[in-house]
Amino acid sequence: MFGRGQKKSDSTKYYDVLGVSKSASEDEIKKAYRKAAMKNHPDKGGDPEKFKELSQAYEVLSDAEKREMYDQYGEDALKEGMGGGGSFNNPFDIFESFFGGGAGFGAGGSSRGRRQKHGEDVVHSLKVSLEDVYNGTTKKLSLSRNVLCSKCKGKGSKSGTAGRCFGCQGTGMKITRRQIGMGMIQQMQHVCPECRGTGEVISERDRCPQCKGNKVSQEKKVLEVNVEKGMQQGQKIVFEGQADEAPDTITGDIVFVVQVKEHPRFRREHDDLYIDQNLTLSEALCGFQFAVTHLDGRQLLIKSNPGEVIRPGQHKAINDEGMPQHNRPFIKGRLFIKFNVDFPDSGFLSPDQCQLLEKELPQKTSNHLSDMELDNCEETTLHDVNIKEEMRRKKQQQYQEAYDEDDDEPSMPRVQCAQQ
Ligand SMILES: [Zn+2]
Ligand SMILES: [Zn+2]
Repeated sequence: MFGRGQKKSDSTKYYDVLGVSKSASEDEIKKAYRKAAMKNHPDKGGDPEKFKELSQAYEVLSDAEKREMYDQYGEDALKEGMGGGGSFNNPFDIFESFFGGGAGFGAGGSSRGRRQKHGEDVVHSLKVSLEDVYNGTTKKLSLSRNVLCSKCKGKGSKSGTAGRCFGCQGTGMKITRRQIGMGMIQQMQHVCPECRGTGEVISERDRCPQCKGNKVSQEKKVLEVNVEKGMQQGQKIVFEGQADEAPDTITGDIVFVVQVKEHPRFRREHDDLYIDQNLTLSEALCGFQFAVTHLDGRQLLIKSNPGEVIRPGQHKAINDEGMPQHNRPFIKGRLFIKFNVDFPDSGFLSPDQCQLLEKELPQKTSNHLSDMELDNCEETTLHDVNIKEEMRRKKQQQYQEAYDEDDDEPSMPRVQCAQQ
C-alpha cells in the first residue's frame, strides 16, 4: 500500500491516452473515451493494445475515487489499491458497460464474451458548387435517425427486462420444414417474425409507453456540415457515431461524400482552374482585354501584352488564382486560360479587305511563286471535308478488314496483314 510519505506523482499518462487535460470534466472524459474506443475497437480494425490502454485509462478516470488516487500517487499506487495483483477489468466489459448503459464497473465478467454489433455507416452524397469549395461554406442538413428510447434506455420495457421469445426459443431465427416431394424435405431458415430476430418478447403490460416496446424512436437532427476550402471531389466528411442507434449496437458514422457540381465557366484539375476564352481574329492579332468573374465574385482583368499575337489553342496561366489547397487555403493553384480564335464567320473577304490585310500582315516569301513556276503547275480544286468524320470512317474500315482477315486465316500474325 502507499503511504502518506510517498512522493507525489505527476503522472498524466491516462489523460494523454484519452487526449484530455488533467482538469477535464467527467463529461469530457466520457466523450473522449467514447470517441477513441469506437475508433480503436479491434472489431473495427483497431489496435487491441491501444484499446486496452484506453479502457484502463477510462476505468480509472471515470471513477472519482480512483482518479483522485491516480492524480496523487500515480499508476502504481492504484494497482496496489485495487488489489488482485494489479489487474484491470476486461476492456470489453468496460466498453460494453459504457455503451450498453449497464451496471458499471467491476461487474466481474457477467457480460464477458458478448460482443456488440457494429451499426452500419450511413453514406450520403453532398452536392456542392465549385464556389462552395473555393470559398468554404457550412451546409445545414436535416436528417432523421433512430435513437434509443430515452424513457426505457433502449430496453423496450418498463421493468428493463424481456422474456425469451417462444416462437424461436430466443435464437431469433426460425426453421420451417416443408415436404416438396416423395421423401424430400426442404428446410428453410428465416428471421423469427414474432420477435423480428431479437429473440426477446416484451409482454404487453411491461411495454415502454414511449416507444411501445420498439426500443428506439425517430429523432430529427440538423447536422452542420463544414465544407472546407479546397476539398476535393469524393472527399469524405465523417460524423462519428451519429448514424442510427440500436440496442447492443455500436452506432455507425454518418459519412458525407463531397460531389462537386460542374461549373459553367471553370473546370478544375486538382488545384488548378481552367477556362476557355474566345478571341476574335483581330483581338488575337492586335490585342485584347476582358474581365473574368472569379468564384469569390472578384473581377479579374485579363489583357494581352502589347504587340503579342495569340495563336488558336494557346494557353496562358495566372499564378495564385486557382483553387485553394485543402488545409492550406492560402496556397493556391494556377488559373489557366485556353484561347480559341474565332475566324470571321463569312467564308469570303472582299478584294478591298484582302488588299488591306496583305499590305499589313507579314507575307511568307517562300510561298511566293514566280510566273515561270506557275506555268509548270497543274490547276486543282479544293473541296470542303469533314475530317473527323473521314477519320472515323477510315478507322472503322481498317478494323473491319483486320477482322475479316483474322476470320479467314486465324493463325496469320497481325503484322503480316499490315504489310499487304
Ligand atoms: Zn422469436
Ligand atoms: Zn421506450
